[in-house]
Amino acid sequence: MGIWEPALLAHVLANAKCRMKGIRRQSELPPGTALREWPLGVPLIWDARLALARLWQLYRRMVQAPTLPDGFRWRSQPMPTMIRELAWGAAIKVGPRPNRVVTVCPRCRAEAYLLRATPDGWACRRCDPRHWRQLEVSVGAYAMGLMIGVTGRPMVRRRQRIMNALWSLTLRVRSIRQLALIGAGAELLRYSPHWRRRPGGTRAGAADHGPGPLTRKFGSLYVQVVIEEVLHPRAFRQRFVVV
Ligand SMILES: [Zn+2]
Repeated sequence: MGIWEPALLAHVLANAKCRMKGIRRQSELPPGTALREWPLGVPLIWDARLALARLWQLYRRMVQAPTLPDGFRWRSQPMPTMIRELAWGAAIKVGPRPNRVVTVCPRCRAEAYLLRATPDGWACRRCDPRHWRQLEVSVGAYAMGLMIGVTGRPMVRRRQRIMNALWSLTLRVRSIRQLALIGAGAELLRYSPHWRRRPGGTRAGAADHGPGPLTRKFGSLYVQVVIEEVLHPRAFRQRFVVV
């Protein structure tokens, strides 16, 4: 969806105004609504940090949660070594610093945290001659996060930054390309990056419906399949390519 629509701008503005007044307002669509189509006018992006975030979330839910008591505080734990090993299967390199999360550009072999789709495959910022604006790249990465199902803090923060940037862009918009970006961005803002909550209001991230016997048995296998079928840049590109 890259077509300019006044209704979408109204949505961006309404959200931004609520934020300025300090009113808490969730997304238009309920948490968990999946993004199915890549937004037009936005580069197809693969972001190693978001792929890792999704891998880690799946690992918590499918592998760790069945072995731990309910209510476990996930965030306080450092990254398990297993995540680092699994990440390598999705072409993600973690470390040596814990916050350094990169991949190797398949074209120039340089390390990069973000890849952009070209007609000939993935490329990094150094070897892709096309110029994308920072906001276009941010919107692309956010769309990738929505598509692979990342939820929680990293996505909420990104959404907030995109909302701020789109808001200021609407005040100085000068080109059709910018209008298309606002349209695409506003469409993405309808989706929620928040955790799905159970009816009681508790966090559902750790153990959605309670770990069942199948999860206990096949949890790690499931994570492996998602890595190979969705999270690896090659698989992600095949799945969502829009050239
Ligand atoms: Zn490169």
